[in-house]
Amino acid sequence: MSLRPDAAGPERLVVGAGISGLYAALLLARAGRRVRLLERAARPGGLAGAEVFRGLPCDLGSHRLHPAALEQPLFREVHARAPFLTRPRRGVLVLGERHVPYPPSAPSMLRALGLRAGAAMGLGFVAQRGRRAAFARWERDRAIAGEDVGFERFVRDRVGAAAYASFYRPYAEKVWGIPPAELSQTVAKKRISTTSPLALFKELARARGGAAADLARFVYPPGGISSIIAYLEARLAEAGVRAECGAAFDLAALGARAGAAPVLFAGDLADLVPDARLEHRGLYLVYLAYPRARVGTPETYYCPDPRFWFGRVSELQNYAPDLRRPGETVLCVEIPEGAWGRGRDFAAGRPLEALLDQLVRAGIAPRGVAPVEARQRFVPNVYPLYRRGWLQDWRAAMRRAAALGALPFGRQALFLHCNLDHCAAIAADAVAHVEAGQSPEAWVLNAERYLDVQVRD
Ligand SMILES: Cc1cc2nc3c(=O)[nH]c(=O)nc-3n(C[C@H](O)[C@H](O)[C@H](O)COP(=O)(O)OP(=O)(O)OC[C@H]3O[C@@H](n4cnc5c(N)ncnc54)[C@H](O)[C@@H]3O)c2cc1C
Repeated sequence: MSLRPDAAGPERLVVGAGISGLYAALLLARAGRRVRLLERAARPGGLAGAEVFRGLPCDLGSHRLHPAALEQPLFREVHARAPFLTRPRRGVLVLGERHVPYPPSAPSMLRALGLRAGAAMGLGFVAQRGRRAAFARWERDRAIAGEDVGFERFVRDRVGAAAYASFYRPYAEKVWGIPPAELSQTVAKKRISTTSPLALFKELARARGGAAADLARFVYPPGGISSIIAYLEARLAEAGVRAECGAAFDLAALGARAGAAPVLFAGDLADLVPDARLEHRGLYLVYLAYPRARVGTPETYYCPDPRFWFGRVSELQNYAPDLRRPGETVLCVEIPEGAWGRGRDFAAGRPLEALLDQLVRAGIAPRGVAPVEARQRFVPNVYPLYRRGWLQDWRAAMRRAAALGALPFGRQALFLHCNLDHCAAIAADAVAHVEAGQSPEAWVLNAERYLDVQVRD
């Protein structure tokens, strides 16, 4: 147990040492509390941790900070100590064999799709009766209320059959591995409707007009995303708090705490409410070291095409120049668990050969150059699987957790698809809530507002 010698009052127990739990523990320690921090894994970090490959701290999949993250006090603090890099965004959308700059412009999309598919999609957007009204309703419909019509209907109604069939359906099938009609409309709201399509195009036009638009750049810590975790660990160590790793906290442990202060729980909700019917999907990461100074300029390739197993591929050094070894470059290939299930190995034998071939066909990896090393890591609990009707289960699970004396926060416990800065902001809210002496019941009543958080890619 790590206690701050001069800390006062009842001990605060924080579970989960991802960014949410670490930041909550730090805020509590700074408020003069005795803090105990439990982590199930061997190391802190959660999804913001690193896989050390070829001596480099590789992110667990493509991570970047939206410039708006700098409005959040934690990120301002880290930035003040070790300034983030500001990087131009050089993403690429891989459509078949064509590459379209991402975020895309309307003309580049049309060029890539070809005249026929482009015209069908354009007509789909504008011609269907009620389309304008559907766009107008886009923002209003994001409020989680009423009937869940499902992903398929929600998206088709708004973007038309052609756009749905070309992008949204294959993407949803690849990531989730269940028929899109069984997915909740929440997936569309969170993953796709960052804002309405019309607003997005307006924003893109502004970005191309030269304004310092947030879509055209991102910020990134020079030492990789896990350097934010290292920063938090260092500040916590100064406050006398260390995460106890290899220490899972579950339902049984909660029972033993009757009468104690609420547990700030940023772990996996399923550990507290095992019958909640709220599943996650994981992600296979395949790290490939190529004997090349660089394979391309894009930092991320987005690949909705169902012929390719991966949804995204990133080249590490294009996030931060320090993340490279001389004469070598690392690609991180993200293969959603989707319909594969767990226990596959994509980093050896035939699957690796097939994967390398796909990377060449997608125009990402060089032809005739074999990687010098390949390594796979499977990351569980990455994406909440929002099935139709999940919200009722979520509400019941939140009530159960609160009744047990736990205050769920963070991505896994709140069943959220959210960014790092959202996690930090929610952790600060959770700490303020317990410090004000408020109950877990009051917290879960208000927690529904976090469901509307929009993930930014
Ligand atoms: C591929 C990928 C790309 C991403 N890209 C971006 C991006 O570009 N920008 C961005 O801002 N964000 C991005 N994110 C999101 C960001 O990484 C997460 O939102 C954030 O790291 C979640 O932090 P967390 O602490 O809430 O949860 P987690 O990181 O999941 O941490 C939870 C911790 O709790 C532990 N735990 C679970 N159950 C228990 C238990 N019972 N007892 C003890 N410990 C437990 C886990 O081991 C884990 O360490 C991305 C995430 C992924 C996976």
